[in-house]
Amino acid sequence: MTVARSGTTKNAGASDKDGQAPPVPLHKTHIDSNEHAYVRDAMQRGRVGAYGDYTARTEQLIARRLAAPRVLLTHSCTAALEIAALLTLQPGDEVILPSFTFAGTATAFARAGAQLVFVDIDPATLNIDVRAVAAAVTGRTRAIVAVHYAGVACDLAALKSIAAGASAVLIEDAAHSFGASFDGRPLGTFAPLAAVSFHETKNVTSGEGGALVINDPALTMRAQIVRDRGTNRDQFFRNEIDSYTWVELGSAFAPSDLIAAALLAQIERVDEITAVRRRFWDRYHAAFSPAERAGLARRPVVPAGAQHNGHIYYLLLPDAARRRTFLESLNRQGIGAAFHYVPLHSSPAGLRYGRASGSLDTTEDIAARLVRLPLHLEMSEHDQSRVIDAAIRALGAAS
Ligand SMILES: *Cc1c(COP(=O)(O)O)cnc(C)c1O
Repeated sequence: MTVARSGTTKNAGASDKDGQAPPVPLHKTHIDSNEHAYVRDAMQRGRVGAYGDYTARTEQLIARRLAAPRVLLTHSCTAALEIAALLTLQPGDEVILPSFTFAGTATAFARAGAQLVFVDIDPATLNIDVRAVAAAVTGRTRAIVAVHYAGVACDLAALKSIAAGASAVLIEDAAHSFGASFDGRPLGTFAPLAAVSFHETKNVTSGEGGALVINDPALTMRAQIVRDRGTNRDQFFRNEIDSYTWVELGSAFAPSDLIAAALLAQIERVDEITAVRRRFWDRYHAAFSPAERAGLARRPVVPAGAQHNGHIYYLLLPDAARRRTFLESLNRQGIGAAFHYVPLHSSPAGLRYGRASGSLDTTEDIAARLVRLPLHLEMSEHDQSRVIDAAIRALGAAS
C-alpha cells in the first residue's frame, strides 16, 4: 500500500470467527437531521452552484468561530492547499514540509512547480521537527508547511520565527485541527494561510470538503480569483467592475451550495462533536496507561498549551513486527485499527518532486510502529470497551 494515507490489514472490518460482535470501523460519519434539512432547503432554493446562501453562511460561521478575517470553502483541504501554493509560490521555489503527512499536502505544492524538501518529525508529538526545518532553509525556501498531527499544535512560535528569518510564508495544514487550539487560540489562525479538511475521515465533514482560512486580508482578493478559475468574477458580483475576465491561473476550487448546506449542520455541532471525541480519547488514554508503564506501547504526547480535538488516538508499539501482529489480531476481531502515513520522502512521487533534508529516521521509525484505534460518534462505550480489551490482550500477547 504505497500510496494509501493509511490502512488496515486485509481482514479489516470482517466480523470475528464466532460472528457475534459487530465490527467497529476506524471511522464512521454521524449524520444528524439538520444535514438532511439544510440540503433539502438548498435544493428548494434552486441556486445549487458555488457561492450560494449556504456557502456564505458556512464561511461566515467558520470565520466567526476562528476569529479569522475570511474563510473560503473549497472542495477539499488539498484544493485549499493548492490555492495557498498558487498564491505564494513560483516554479522552482522550495517548500519545507514533513514526510510524515498525507499525500495531499505534498501534491498541492508540487503541482504549483515547487521543489519539496522533506524533513523529519519530533518523536514526542510527531509534528515537524523545528531544528530540521531550520537546517533545511536555503535561499530558495518560499514556504514552510506546519501539519498539526492529530490536532495537536506544532511549535508555532519557533516555526514563525524560522519563516520570518527565511522570508518564507508559514502555511498551516490544519486538516486534522478543526476544533483544536493552542493557548486558547484556534489552530488555523497562526499563519497567513491555513487549510482545513472536511473529508469524511475528519471530525467535521461534508463527505469531501475543505476551507482556506485567510488570516492576512491582503491575500483575500487573489485567493478568490484563484478559487474561481482565475477570474475576477467575485468583484463583478459585488458590482466593483462592469464585466469579469480571466486574470491569472486558478481552477474550479469552490464546492456546490449543497455541500456547504451539509457542512453547515456539522459546523453548528462542532463543540458537541469535539467533546464526545475528547471523552473517547481520554478513556483510551487512561486505559493504556498501565501498558505504557509496562513498556508495551507508548501513548500520545500533548505538550502544555495544546488543546487537541480528539481527532486521532494512536499507540506506538515497540517494533514493526509487533505492530503487524497487533493489527492482525484486532482486524480479525472486526476492529478497524490501522497504521498511518507511508512516508512521502521515499514514495514514487516524493522521489520525483522532492528531496530529503537531514535524517528521516524518526519518520521511518514512527511510520513502522504507529497504530490508530477507532474513534467516532457512531461507536458506543461498549464498542470502545471491546477495542480496549482486544488491544490490551494483543499488546500482552505481542510482548
Ligand atoms: C486529510 C488530510 C489532507 C487532505 O484533505 P482532503 O480534504 O482529503 O484533501 C491533507 N493533509 C492532512 C494532514 C490530512 O490528514
